Amino acid sequence: MENVYRDTMQLLKKYHIHANKKLGQNFLIEDTVVEKTIEAADITKEDLVIEIGPGLGTLTKELLEKAKKVIAVELDEKMIPILQERFFLYQNLELVHQDILKVPLKEYIEKEENIREVKIVANLPYYITTPIIMKLLEDRLPVKTITVMVQKEVAKRLTAKTGDKLCGAITYGVEYYCETKEVVEVPRQSFIPAPEVDSEVIQLILRDKSKVQVKDEKFLFSLIKASFMQRRKTLLNGIGNSGLIEKNKLKEIMQELNLPETTRGENLTLEQFAEIAQKV
Ligand code: SAM
Repeated sequence: MENVYRDTMQLLKKYHIHANKKLGQNFLIEDTVVEKTIEAADITKEDLVIEIGPGLGTLTKELLEKAKKVIAVELDEKMIPILQERFFLYQNLELVHQDILKVPLKEYIEKEENIREVKIVANLPYYITTPIIMKLLEDRLPVKTITVMVQKEVAKRLTAKTGDKLCGAITYGVEYYCETKEVVEVPRQSFIPAPEVDSEVIQLILRDKSKVQVKDEKFLFSLIKASFMQRRKTLLNGIGNSGLIEKNKLKEIMQELNLPETTRGENLTLEQFAEIAQKV
């Protein structure tokens, strides 16, 4: 592994790059973090890796060495020629200049032949962490793991257990589709420019089958979203006001499930939300 701090400084200077805050550009400059991220991703020469936001190519470089192929999706047009020049010797890189939220990833994956597993790796742009993760999960991509750097606070929420204090609506989405693992906490000084918060690399390991089975998945997530929209409110008010379940009906269901009327959404596990959804 090379010195990523030195490489990053050289590239920034050579191409006169100023990090674009709006695009969430914080470039990784700490070798050990790169090492641990790559190690956790556990990539083999038979794997396809999708990287989101390669930036100057710090993670890309290691991914290209380990994977059969890397598809790197970058929105910033300034990064494209840098990546092309830096990796012109590699035959296994496909650069996609597009917004990750608009890329039909399934089509890209289906085009590839003789791939063992698909893994996603990214130092994510923090302004769209949640939409990216939800898209990756909801698209039901044939992906084994998602190893990503996110804000530490978000990492704790994503890896929390549903029903815990730290959980938010996204915790349920993640638990539904994945098991999670914390890889390494990353101080803000590991980036240039340093962001205002610390970060953490986490891994989402996709389940073969969702954690709970419900008749109507969309309805389950609407219930969860409704109860977290008004986090301070009780479940009865949060869901009751949303019109998804009539208040008296919800009262009845809660009684059947031995849930007191003071219960809030954040007190419920994924399984309990699923039970409510199934009873409607
Ligand atoms: N991977 C590099 C690293 O670790 O140093 C850069 C990470 S930086 C936190 C996030 C990267 O995502 C930037 O290169 C940024 O331009 C890119 N990006 C931002 N929004 C994006 C989007 N909607 N789609 C694809 N890439 C995006």
